[in-house]
Amino acid sequence: MDSLRGGERHGLVSIASTLRPTAVTVDLAAIRHNIGLFRDTVGEGVEVMAVVKANAYGHGAAVVGRQALEAGARWLGVATAEEGSALRQAGIEAPILILGQSTPDQIVLALEQGLDITVFDLGTLDTVVGCATKTGRKAGVHVKIDSGMGRVGMAPEAFDERWLKALDHPGIHWHGLMSHLAESDAPDDTFTRVQLARFLDVIEFIRIRRPLPPYLHLANSAAVLRYPGTHFNLVRVGLGLYGAKPFADAQGLWPALSWTSQVVYVKAVPAGFWVGYGRTYRTEAPAKLAAVPVGYADGYRRGLSNLAEVIIRGRRYPVVGRISMDQITVAVPPQDPVAVGDTVTLMGVDGDQSVSVDELAEKLGTISYEVLTGISERVPRRYVDTEILRGI
Ligand SMILES: *Cc1c(COP(=O)(O)O)cnc(C)c1O
Repeated sequence: MDSLRGGERHGLVSIASTLRPTAVTVDLAAIRHNIGLFRDTVGEGVEVMAVVKANAYGHGAAVVGRQALEAGARWLGVATAEEGSALRQAGIEAPILILGQSTPDQIVLALEQGLDITVFDLGTLDTVVGCATKTGRKAGVHVKIDSGMGRVGMAPEAFDERWLKALDHPGIHWHGLMSHLAESDAPDDTFTRVQLARFLDVIEFIRIRRPLPPYLHLANSAAVLRYPGTHFNLVRVGLGLYGAKPFADAQGLWPALSWTSQVVYVKAVPAGFWVGYGRTYRTEAPAKLAAVPVGYADGYRRGLSNLAEVIIRGRRYPVVGRISMDQITVAVPPQDPVAVGDTVTLMGVDGDQSVSVDELAEKLGTISYEVLTGISERVPRRYVDTEILRGI
């Protein structure tokens, strides 16, 4: 019985998942290129934090994190202590900031793993101090101001003398003051300017009383590209690191992720043939139907039913009928040479056709962030380096 548990069983699982033709491929050269673009944009004296929360927006946090650091990012940003801890287990020693709030247990983990903590209420800061005192480790903290996001963070006017006193505790390394923009991707800059002014007020309050903490940071990807005044000396880059556009006319980024599968079955059907659950699609003319082993359990969302297109042999074809948990059906004109084994591009480039993450997001009525982070764990991630490929 025991031999059916442990290693053997895990071995089988991992073999099975990599044999499946459905996979995400991440181009490490694109990650480096995008970091380079952001570094050139901010220039000397401003550091880049690569935001690799949510498994690097679905791209694989440890691999992408390492690549971003190699390309010159100085920090990594995560959402939770657990995500940061996983990066430490993978051998990454760079500074890591937990961007979300931390519970007392997560604060213990953060201190053990040397992760910086975001704080925005004095109670949490107390917990951090207590934990630092108990363990004898210093806690790196960044104070978060709500300059207009209206989510976590303290009101600018709530940052007062009590905070300065509490941050002076010998168990604390006060590393940063930060805030987050609500509308840096919108065409209208009015509210971003309001947020910047509120953030500057807090900086001024500190500056006239004591030395500033070493890092001031406000900008996400969109703000880095659109508002140099928000750079301060550290910027937090997520979406753009992956080459997705932070706003419609963003230039020069390379999409890092492609998502492909294979045609596993083709059959010729007559006109008037129904396809899929609920019979939502009926062929108007004789057609070939190609089955592709990807579905909503992979994150190829059911909302794309009868809306998405895929690329096979450099041509676009519609996804017809309902998307199932594990399969989709693609309609092909009878004369087109689509065959079993053909590569199916769900997202990415094939020949002169491409399907962008934004195209899928728009069809779903959502944003690229949700599409990328929605690609499920069942889909294996593979890594290529097109710079090395080009060199061969
Ligand atoms: C996720 C996140 C970012 C990255 O935002 P992008 O728009 O993906 O660049 C930056 N800052 C904070 C606080 C975040 O939570």
